[in-house]
Amino acid sequence: MKRTPQVEATEGFPAKVMIYEVGPRDGLQNESAIVPVEVKAEFVRRLVAAGLQTVEVTSFVHPRWVPQLADAEQLIDALDMAAAARMPVLVPNERGLDRALDKGISEIAIFGSATESFARRNLNRSLDEQYTMFEPVVRRARGAGVRVRGYLSMCFGDPWEGDVPVAQVVAAGHRLVELGCDELSLGDTIGVATPGHVAAVLTGFAEARVPVGQLAVHFHDTYGQALSNALTAMRHGVTTIDSSAGGLGGCPYAESATGNLATEDLVWQLHGLGIETGVDLEALVQTSTWMAAHVGKPPVSRVVSALT
Ligand code: MG
Repeated sequence: MKRTPQVEATEGFPAKVMIYEVGPRDGLQNESAIVPVEVKAEFVRRLVAAGLQTVEVTSFVHPRWVPQLADAEQLIDALDMAAAARMPVLVPNERGLDRALDKGISEIAIFGSATESFARRNLNRSLDEQYTMFEPVVRRARGAGVRVRGYLSMCFGDPWEGDVPVAQVVAAGHRLVELGCDELSLGDTIGVATPGHVAAVLTGFAEARVPVGQLAVHFHDTYGQALSNALTAMRHGVTTIDSSAGGLGGCPYAESATGNLATEDLVWQLHGLGIETGVDLEALVQTSTWMAAHVGKPPVSRVVSALT
């Protein structure tokens, strides 16, 4: 059986894409299984060995909020952070930043909202108050030489508000960039975006003079649109794409098996287009299959299914 796509290099796409792997953090956070810390460490090691150059490894949130990631410190202790990969961690606030700095972390991500409803429900802040909360986190992180990614949630639809105006998304993202975020990851948190919508949001950021090199995209496959949306984002110059090994992590705001875009599905598309990722697809499939046994359910990735 043929295990790689036929490569047909195509005009209008980047030569290389940075895959920002979120399986260990965003994936496991949204799975009900509690995975032992040794297994998580092995998962990260295997992902790096499979060629993933950026792996978000955990979150320094309060264990009461996310019991799946209560072992953040132990995981960092178990990992060789000098490995040949970037290993950012999520921090929700200054307390999380203190914990991350104590562990010598060199890259963090904060988690902002494009909508009032999600800011109130997820951050317990108004849309405006979130910037006040993030300002010292970003300032102190950058002062310590730590790179900062800003996630922006609900960029393409909100479960309580419905449609989200493009201008509102661009304004919220612009504020995070002004605060000092090095990168902005535009999240389709409920997976409702379609390609024209992605194009409209990216055009909005271009008009607001946010360099496309600072933008990443984070699509969910709830409605089967994630790969089309990723393709559209690349057409608009985006070269950093978030995905989760095996498609780990369901959708937290919809009754759906499919949440995060699966890294294998993304890699298949990128390699077919002749785009360099550095990822060994076969090793990645083996990693996701191995991990699925620890999570207790099969990977949702189509490519993993097809290759195993
Ligand atoms: Mg996600």
